Amino acid sequence: MSSRRRGLLFIVSAPSGAGKTTLVEHLVQILPHLRMSSSSTSRAARPGERDGIDYHFISRSQFEDMITAGAFLEWADVFGNLYGTAAADTAALMATGQDVVMVIDVQGARQVKAHGIDHTSIFVLPPSFPVLERRLRGRSKDTEEQMQRRLATARAEVPSYVEYDYVVVNDQLEPTVVRLQEIIAAERSRTHRMRVTAEEILASFQR
Ligand code: 5GP
Repeated sequence: MSSRRRGLLFIVSAPSGAGKTTLVEHLVQILPHLRMSSSSTSRAARPGERDGIDYHFISRSQFEDMITAGAFLEWADVFGNLYGTAAADTAALMATGQDVVMVIDVQGARQVKAHGIDHTSIFVLPPSFPVLERRLRGRSKDTEEQMQRRLATARAEVPSYVEYDYVVVNDQLEPTVVRLQEIIAAERSRTHRMRVTAEEILASFQR
């Protein structure tokens, strides 16, 4: 039945280090019909990252050509690198009835909203600034200057939570994944989205 409706679009944003990618990776493993959209970036691949899986790694000039061609649903300059979601990739997934989750920054989320595209947005907050800093320092190979930039960006981004439909605090992985699942289940169950299914059931009452 779900294959007959157009997929839903979810946006997950969070400051760097809040754990959004890990959360969404768990989520798409658990939930059928939910896929993570693929992003393109002009930044170099980090060790272990694979082209076409983690990102489509393209040159800055290729990226700029795609912007000019209007190929991106949204794009942003994050830490001096360009990141974007190709409109065609997301549309193809949604047309098959898959729900799509985009893990994008605050600037990108604003663009999706400005386009008037139907979506549900979720902001992931870390439990506190010290916890975020500890997580970032724990996993990072950044220089101190890069670290200070990430922390400053996080400080600037967190007040944007008010622009989102839902807020989730990522204190522990498993309960936070459950919370995200609950949000998605609730959005899928909205009356206007259940209409086709409900009308099919109602039709059986006519016989
Ligand atoms: P990283 O370089 O650590 O993989 O990602 C840095 C930031 O870029 C993250 O905050 C992430 O949410 C954001 N990002 C990744 N892909 C996209 C995208 O397609 N669009 C936008 N707007 N931001 C993205």
